[in-house]
Amino acid sequence: MAATILNPRSESNLEGVHPDLVKLVRRAAEITAVPFIVIEGVRTLARQRQLVASGASQTLKSRHVPEMNACGVACAVDLAALIGKTVRWDWPLYERLAVAVKLAAGDVAIPIEWGGDWPHFKDGPHYQLPWRDYP
Ligand SMILES: [Zn+2]
Repeated sequence: MAATILNPRSESNLEGVHPDLVKLVRRAAEITAVPFIVIEGVRTLARQRQLVASGASQTLKSRHVPEMNACGVACAVDLAALIGKTVRWDWPLYERLAVAVKLAAGDVAIPIEWGGDWPHFKDGPHYQLPWRDYP
């Protein structure tokens, strides 16, 4: 099993992310069979508005946007599968990565929601702390 060492890009994308979520991502990196990079953590409200306008997101109330969270930090991250030096988007990799992230969540006792479990608008790279536990 090849553990991911978070690269500098991933580390910088974890800045401003809730410490519990950072802890969970680090644990996931230790145990995942699918290496990944953190492609987004904090998102500005302006960028979220653009994503909604372009149809890439359905809501302004994103957990990536610190202003939307009572804690004032980002409560979501997007993880991309990295095979060799190439980011890959094929769905089965994301299902395998989700297994590792959920195992990691159990290890560190931090609840997590995967965008791939959403019934509509599945978002394979997306993980967030639940609103009910982290308002
Ligand atoms: Zn996301």
